[in-house]
Amino acid sequence: MQIQSKLPNVGTTIFTVMSGLANEVGAINLSQGFPNYNPAQRLQELVTEHMAKGANQYAPMPGILPLREKIARKMERMYGAILDPESEITITAGGTQAIFTAIAAFVRPGDEVILLEPCYDSYRPSVETVGGVAVIHSLSAPDYKVNWGEVAKLITPKTKMLCINTPQNPTGTILRAEDMKQIEDMLRGTNVLVMSDEVYEHLIFDGETHASALCFPDLYARSLVIYSFGKTYHNTGWKTGYCIAPPELTREFRKVHQFNVFSGNHPMQAAFNDFMEDESQYLGLPAFYQQKRDFFLEAMAGTRFKPLHCAGTYFQLFEYGHLSDEGDLDFCKRITREYGVAGIPVSSFYSDGKDQKVIRLCFAKTEDLLEKAGKALERL
Ligand code: GLN
Repeated sequence: MQIQSKLPNVGTTIFTVMSGLANEVGAINLSQGFPNYNPAQRLQELVTEHMAKGANQYAPMPGILPLREKIARKMERMYGAILDPESEITITAGGTQAIFTAIAAFVRPGDEVILLEPCYDSYRPSVETVGGVAVIHSLSAPDYKVNWGEVAKLITPKTKMLCINTPQNPTGTILRAEDMKQIEDMLRGTNVLVMSDEVYEHLIFDGETHASALCFPDLYARSLVIYSFGKTYHNTGWKTGYCIAPPELTREFRKVHQFNVFSGNHPMQAAFNDFMEDESQYLGLPAFYQQKRDFFLEAMAGTRFKPLHCAGTYFQLFEYGHLSDEGDLDFCKRITREYGVAGIPVSSFYSDGKDQKVIRLCFAKTEDLLEKAGKALERL
């Protein structure tokens, strides 16, 4: 039997590879993005309580309504968006599933999807699984600035979607209101949809505010906006997120969602619904993570790595080209083995493997670990 791969160039994700190596050699794992601390005790208790009370069977396909109502209230407060929880909010099994579903619901074979690379590694395979063609606008260190004039030139009659991500993984850059307005203007009069990945919405620093697609009515009208509870409540393993989109887009999104997972975890949804009453949990996140970013930069100050500016996310980039000629994957593997700190090579977020000798380290970790990582890398 001959198997024809739909994703011939895809192997195991870099997150699995680097976390695997870190575990194998006992290194500090700053590669895959996840916190090494637990979600709030109360939130954990709520899941158990809801299980005991019987939230153990399928949640409704779009998610439990009270949680969707809570999300609508939050989005009004944060972004001034007036949303209908019935027809514009769908709870998903995490951000990655929401992204896949948003792409699969609209992209047909031969349709073009514009990606701004380096980007989260699921975007391109999601496009290609459904027969779409990824069209790349390649950003460069040190500032990874988007040239919207160049992006506009990539739009053809075949363009179905533009994928954006702010704050952006892995670069730590953000799109500001003027970027969002440029996207809004650029797409006016076209049928191009936008997948706006905003899973790091609260991880934004130095007093900047998150410019959500929800804040720009003409942009929102063509957008599927993706969020994650995992990033906000320190529980990436609970795999719960949501997609916000206007009713006509949500209708199509749900057609695929219902046959993709049917519905998200029920006890987690019930717990998040209760826990979201306490707004301080997410309103305090920018300060919480800014403090971690600054602590980590301090811990790395004695190393010879050159940090790039991190305006958001829980990822800090470092240039190492002045320390080694090695490609970034080899370099990451070597420092994991020899210095006991695992990171992610940024080339793995580019389709063409563009290697500018930059690595990504995750600072969603306790201070003892960040301090130890800094000390270990001082020897390099
Ligand atoms: N989003 C996380 C990261 O970029 C990892 C997600 C995953 O492992 N699939 O590190």
